[in-house]
Amino acid sequence: MFLRIDRLQVELPMAEDPDPKAAAAVQELLGGRFGEMSTLMNYTYQSFNFRGKDALKPYYDLVSNIATEELGHIEVVAATINGLLTGATDRKEVTDTPLKGVSGVGNPHHFLNNGQTALVANALGAPWQGDYVFNTGDLVLDMLHNFFLECGARMGKLRVYETTDNPIARAMCGYLLVRGGVHQVAYAKALETITGVEVAKMLNIPNISNEVIPEAKKFNDMGVHHTLYRFSPSDYQDIDKIWKGQHPEDGGDLKVVDGPPDGGPVNPLTPEPQVFAPGYHPGELAEIAQRLMRGM
Ligand code: MN
Ligand code: MN
Repeated sequence: MFLRIDRLQVELPMAEDPDPKAAAAVQELLGGRFGEMSTLMNYTYQSFNFRGKDALKPYYDLVSNIATEELGHIEVVAATINGLLTGATDRKEVTDTPLKGVSGVGNPHHFLNNGQTALVANALGAPWQGDYVFNTGDLVLDMLHNFFLECGARMGKLRVYETTDNPIARAMCGYLLVRGGVHQVAYAKALETITGVEVAKMLNIPNISNEVIPEAKKFNDMGVHHTLYRFSPSDYQDIDKIWKGQHPEDGGDLKVVDGPPDGGPVNPLTPEPQVFAPGYHPGELAEIAQRLMRGM
């Protein structure tokens, strides 16, 4: 089962510079083949379907624990898209074509289907698909796939980073590049412990260090790239059987931290009355909510 904390794993800047084109690009990191929905659902189903987990508990713990971190990553990417879309259309009357300015800009479903918010889709608007999940039950093959998936995820983040200098998008990319780097190393170490093959020698993939991305280096300087968070009050203790030794890039000591990162608040999403979110008369909705709080 899952507990939920109403915070993001990383503090994101407030929405102040709407950019629907960047929002459309960032969708690839949510619902693309190598996006956070894919890492989340691959590791989640691999953990559900894990056979022989008593004998192989460190690997079961690793994939289960990283799955839980990925659940928070879809939240961070959705928050980024929502921040980029806040204020993207004109806050004027329905008869004054408030959405005219975004006609042909970015993903039309952000405005025509959603309330200027994230879709479970890729940058083309195609929905995330369950057949992005690869789960043969063969431990080496599944870990090899996960290593590959994290490499593809890192490629996507670097390229989205190259498309936009928006501070929300870059803060998200910087943090997730570092966390994806941790997952690359974790799956490399998992493969090394089973097969003896020194998979981490292949890194970096792509061959560019997080040290040259200022928004990622910031977290490296805090040691986030050495840290695997344990996302459970008492379970998944054996991740430290795999997440140990030295980081392949800088030789720093790897460590498990009990509990999630401090992160940051879930930024408020202001109403967008022109797309009726949360409704055409937000004042009335606020009054109803107040009545509930007073217990009347
Ligand atoms: Mn992730
Ligand atoms: Mn990951």
